[in-house]
Amino acid sequence: MGDRHVEIWDKCLSVIKDNTEPQSFATWFKPIVPLSLNNNVLTIQVPSQFYYEWLEDKYIDLLKMTLKRFLGPEAKLNYSIVMDSSERPYTMLMPGSNRNNPKNPIGRPAPEKLSEGPINPFVIPGLQKRQIESQLNESYTFDNFIEGECNRVARQCGLEVARKPGGTAYNPLLIYSGTGLGKTHLCHAIGLEAKRLHPDLTVLYVQAEQLYNQYFTATKNNNRVDFIHFYQMIDVLIIDDIQFLAGKTGTQEVFFQIFNYLHQNNKQIVITSDKFPSDLQNIESRLLSRFKWGLTADLQIPDVETRISIIKEKLTKTGIKLSDEVIQYLAHNLRASVRELEGVIISLIAQSSINKKDITIEMTQQIIERFVRNSVKELSVEYIINIVCDYFKISADHLALNTRKHQVVQARQIAMYLSKKYSNASLTAIGEQCGKKDHATVHHACKTVKDRLETDKQFKAMMAEIEKKIVL
Ligand code: ADP
Ligand code: MG
Repeated sequence: MGDRHVEIWDKCLSVIKDNTEPQSFATWFKPIVPLSLNNNVLTIQVPSQFYYEWLEDKYIDLLKMTLKRFLGPEAKLNYSIVMDSSERPYTMLMPGSNRNNPKNPIGRPAPEKLSEGPINPFVIPGLQKRQIESQLNESYTFDNFIEGECNRVARQCGLEVARKPGGTAYNPLLIYSGTGLGKTHLCHAIGLEAKRLHPDLTVLYVQAEQLYNQYFTATKNNNRVDFIHFYQMIDVLIIDDIQFLAGKTGTQEVFFQIFNYLHQNNKQIVITSDKFPSDLQNIESRLLSRFKWGLTADLQIPDVETRISIIKEKLTKTGIKLSDEVIQYLAHNLRASVRELEGVIISLIAQSSINKKDITIEMTQQIIERFVRNSVKELSVEYIINIVCDYFKISADHLALNTRKHQVVQARQIAMYLSKKYSNASLTAIGEQCGKKDHATVHHACKTVKDRLETDKQFKAMMAEIEKKIVL
């Protein structure tokens, strides 16, 4: 009688077994331990947070269906996550003592033992393992990061951090701005300068998305501890676009641990975000509070003078000369972001070299118009998917997941609806790109969204916000 949870879980397992690949069943379901059954709530124990996320992502439908079958429609599943005690000692690892022999997690194996371990993109094979590839882009320096009122504080703090990594009050340094205003440029500049001034420090630039992917792989391969150790030996850790971690609780958790460790050991952390910290939804509050320990510096849209300097700087690399008139015209008419400014300059140069014509104001006008119109009217499904997924903080790949997660289903339906509205793609093409669905699904999605727009005010407001981002 007291073992009813075991009995129920056994029944569930037999159904699940029939509905999964043997390999998946062995990996994901065998290790689960049923703990208790209270009313309709079955508590199961899973080996890790990652495990839980994986189950929720891939098997939630199957689990729900099975559970309801044996416990009735009110059935609920509760997870108990085991903290793996083997992972605890990571706090004991002293970078000093481990310096020359860091166990390298996600590590590309040293040539002599090629057979073991997955690949670490950072480690240069054949060299001492601590020689990691910093992933810094040599063309993003302080020298060519034009200073203006818009970025003075951030630039200055960045310089100080590069001069004295871990030795300023700016730890972490959080650089924040809208897109295309120089966050990535600035953090490469910090990394390059830190490396130049302190050649023996280990500097690493990593995009938050990369961190997520590596962590995902590390967990799958049972390399979580090594993953953490690897990051603990970094002296200057630069994480770009932290907003990507919104909702990715497992990666946030591990980043929290790495962050604390590095911070306690006076290592420098630089983070960028396209949202102000308090607007970063779905980032755990204890992680957010860590960001407040240091300094948040923002990058604003450059004023006309700074835009002129930036244009001139961008032109020096190309050897092309523009008349002052054209430069003024560009600086006054392209205000949205530096990236847009650069885009137009590149098209201008390309056009003039193809047509062998001088760059005139008329030509500039046309290109700006085409450039701006291009990004408004001929929208691709991919572009729309990106905006929608960005809004819901999911990766575009998630649209293809076979899940009933509200977030994903909703994002997919909205992406379909907006693709129909703003692109010229056929329903079949839209379905194909939005998670490999057929045209009937797209049709249904469009109708669902349309109905909701008519009946749900909140939904309507949200859609307006997304559409604004699309046509901006
Ligand atoms: P973000 O990461 O904020 O989206 P990026 O760093 O990618 O923006 O910047 C977009 C482009 O604009 C890059 O090519 C960068 O070199 C350029 N840029 C931005 N700000 C400046 C600046 N102050 N001086 C020179 N180039 C800049
Ligand atoms: Mg960037």
